[in-house]
Amino acid sequence: MSTAPAREPIAVIGAGYVGLVSAAGFAELGSEVWCVDIDAAKIERLRAGEVPIHEPGLGELLARSAGAVHFSSELDGALAHARLLFVAVGTPSTYSGDADLSAVHAVVEAIPPSEEHALVMKSTVPCGTGASLQRSFREQGKEGLGYVSCPEFLREGSAVHDFMHPDRVIVGLEDGWAGEAVVELYAPLGAPIVRTDIASAEMVKLASNAFLATKISFINEIANVCEQTGADVIEVARGMGLDPRIGPLFLQAGIGYGGSCFPKDVDALKQLAGNSGYHFQLLTAVIEVNELQKRRVIAKLHKHLGGLAGQRVALLGLAFKPDTDDMREASSLVLAARLNADGARVSAYDPVAEEQARALVSGIDFAGSALEAARGADAVVLVTEWPEFLALDWAQVAERMRGDLVIDGRNALDPEVVRAAGLTYEGVGRAGEARSGQPSPGSRVIGGTG
Ligand code: NAD
Repeated sequence: MSTAPAREPIAVIGAGYVGLVSAAGFAELGSEVWCVDIDAAKIERLRAGEVPIHEPGLGELLARSAGAVHFSSELDGALAHARLLFVAVGTPSTYSGDADLSAVHAVVEAIPPSEEHALVMKSTVPCGTGASLQRSFREQGKEGLGYVSCPEFLREGSAVHDFMHPDRVIVGLEDGWAGEAVVELYAPLGAPIVRTDIASAEMVKLASNAFLATKISFINEIANVCEQTGADVIEVARGMGLDPRIGPLFLQAGIGYGGSCFPKDVDALKQLAGNSGYHFQLLTAVIEVNELQKRRVIAKLHKHLGGLAGQRVALLGLAFKPDTDDMREASSLVLAARLNADGARVSAYDPVAEEQARALVSGIDFAGSALEAARGADAVVLVTEWPEFLALDWAQVAERMRGDLVIDGRNALDPEVVRAAGLTYEGVGRAGEARSGQPSPGSRVIGGTG
């Protein structure tokens, strides 16, 4: 393996959202890929041609590259055939808010000493992880291993597209063959490639996610002030977004960000700063605003319905965003738990996330459709803006409901269409929900109900 073939074969360790999409994507670009996961059941399903996650286009991509992606729960084949070992294992939060790097460490432990292999870190890790892993390479007699930081920016729901059309590729590298080999792999995608040092590459990822989360918490706070003052956050965001210094993306007010990345990456950056002696005040606020934002729905339900005991609330959507079955840190989890605690009965429907949701939350009556979830409901809450909910026949929803309240947690519905069905509409920060200068009674309790 001392000379690289025309198209570098690679290994991907961790067959989750990032690993599977990367494996299929690199195969599409012409590499032979060895994809390894410790979850033997997942590997069996993949070998049988099943795709264990919901990600649009991934099934087709994997099917196209069938012969080029080899799945295994053992590292041997990967080590024998590939020099570059892309690491895409999970790095969830620990109780302290730091990133849990145990899966990354397990991978490092499992790789034998070698002059011919390099780890390419796709997993999101705190700044300084590369340096500390290289120290452990030396302690474990594995100083010959190369190391490259190549953080991933794909988004669930559009991961295949994002892999094939990245805005930028960040490659944190040192002297040696591995960094340039990674650059070569990404070159056909035509994206700007930022070659930088390892620590800066690690920080680009954390800072990018923290900035986007800040933008979301910012517009959510603007929405909350809109509710107090009679302005409409959609109009405000439209006007703001036309300023190229601000831009229109990530200016949609709603019930808070969730998912497997933003919450944990913002926490990890806050902890990283704290551990190194700096109090990252802004991120503390971003996190708190997000937590309170999820709970504002409860305050709105109280405002309209009074007490929630015995009331039926239907949640439309459970996944943290449309086009994914990922339930990690989904706002629906907080909502369902708060509703249960207040004695409400909760029904819910999600087009793909029911199985994942069942494993995480109790006290939900799962329905087979949005209309079924709405049956007998006093209130319907749009939690995830799946396209099928935007096309709902609200007259049919109204027929099935006991009450008439619709809370649009994503500002995704047309208020006039909902109102035309005889329903009461309330979005997030939208005009007409509070009288100018007169805070509504419900908005006064917001934040205090969590
Ligand atoms: P995931 O939980 O979907 O997948 C991780 C996979 O790694 C699992 O299948 C697990 O079984 C496997 N694994 C764990 N330990 C292993 C080991 N020792 N050897 C082999 N396999 C092992 O995670 P994900 O969402 O794909 O995220 C992976 C990393 O990428 C995380 O650090 C995440 O922060 C980062 N990231 C995720 C996204 C995203 O949208 N999901 C985007 C950018 C970056």
